[in-house]
Amino acid sequence: MKLRVVVLGAGFGGLELSTILSDAIGGRLDLTLIDQNDSFFFGFSKLDVMFGHKQSDAVKIAYSSIKKPGVTFRKETITAIDPVTKTVTTKKATYQADVLVVALGANYDFNATPGLSEWGNEYYSFSGAEKLRSILPQFTKGHAVVGVCNAPFKCPPAPSEAALMLHDYLVSRGIRDACTISLVIPFGLPIPPSPDSSKALLKAFEERNIRFIPQRKVNAVDENKKLILDDGTELPCDLFLGIPKHVAPDVVLQSGLTENGWIPVDRANLLTKFSNVYAIGDVTSVGTPKAGVFAEGAAKIAAASIIATFNGNENDMPYNGAGSCYIEFGKGTVARVDVDFFSGPKPFGIHHEASEALVIDKAYFGSSRKTRWFGK
Ligand SMILES: Cc1cc2nc3c(=O)[nH]c(=O)nc-3n(C[C@H](O)[C@H](O)[C@H](O)COP(=O)(O)OP(=O)(O)OC[C@H]3O[C@@H](n4cnc5c(N)ncnc54)[C@H](O)[C@@H]3O)c2cc1C
Repeated sequence: MKLRVVVLGAGFGGLELSTILSDAIGGRLDLTLIDQNDSFFFGFSKLDVMFGHKQSDAVKIAYSSIKKPGVTFRKETITAIDPVTKTVTTKKATYQADVLVVALGANYDFNATPGLSEWGNEYYSFSGAEKLRSILPQFTKGHAVVGVCNAPFKCPPAPSEAALMLHDYLVSRGIRDACTISLVIPFGLPIPPSPDSSKALLKAFEERNIRFIPQRKVNAVDENKKLILDDGTELPCDLFLGIPKHVAPDVVLQSGLTENGWIPVDRANLLTKFSNVYAIGDVTSVGTPKAGVFAEGAAKIAAASIIATFNGNENDMPYNGAGSCYIEFGKGTVARVDVDFFSGPKPFGIHHEASEALVIDKAYFGSSRKTRWFGK
């Protein structure tokens, strides 16, 4: 009998898990991979789209090219998940699973920040990044703010990256001197687990005259685009690039899988409290940041557990919550931080200085996933 696996969400986590299961037990696998979109894109490609470095079509990879033993992709919107019976309902069909994997990522609650939709902008959704690409050229002078509205948020370095890339963008247009840039972040440092990466970022901000405002969140945007911070401070602003509040998708919140907004999982195997129901990536509260590399790492452990159980064994591969994050430093360079959340008594990160060599490293990171997941 084939193992019926239903994977919800074809992002970083869902793609990695489906690939591993296909490679390991493809002949004995009946895996359905469901996503509402027809293509995948890397989170970091939104920065490229926003600053006009790449066209939208160039960063999208069609799911139709997935051809893996035992895997069927379905472009459908999931409307209900029953973790007790392991039944999934979409707008088109109902699926019954032996093993269910929830990898639906995080959505955004734009209404949680009054004025954000009306007077601000955001680059965390693909459509928001596309919209900004046409708004940025209209900005010629004044105060630009990159600001986080709430934590947790995806890819903790991404606000710092946006500020540094905005600096380069304004320099390239010859208007940097007419503009000021501020960065509002709810942490004390840009990347708390890595003091060295944080130090390098703070130095880069200082060199580029980017004002760093730590330990603050943006609570609201008013009709004059003025920002209200969480301590009541008012920050005049002409261009706001916001990072909206993150939430689990509605269908997950309604499934009974969540506690305090996210899905709790057992770190040893990424199982939820429901038998044979796994959750990986941004939709969980596993304790790592919301980032693709950690979704991928969790997928590896969940896949190992599914394969071991199917073969009547036990998975003894521990989840160390480790991953390497690339940081766009501007001026054609990229840095890297290798972070490990669970191996030691506290999270720690090793910083690799920004260089042109790491630009190639990051490109390989993307192309290797594209080959592994899509055969391209
Ligand atoms: C600007 C920016 C830069 C980033 N840079 C990096 C980086 O450099 N490195 C890094 O590791 N991470 C980065 N990230 C974060 C990364 O993109 C996410 O953390 C990662 O994609 C999470 O993987 P996931 O599998 O948990 O969820 P996702 O990749 O978000 O996948 C979830 C999937 O579920 C689907 N889905 C949701 N609801 C439904 C539904 N009801 N029905 C059907 N399908 C549904 C979605 O369409 C989506 O494809 C960045 C993010 C942003 C916004």
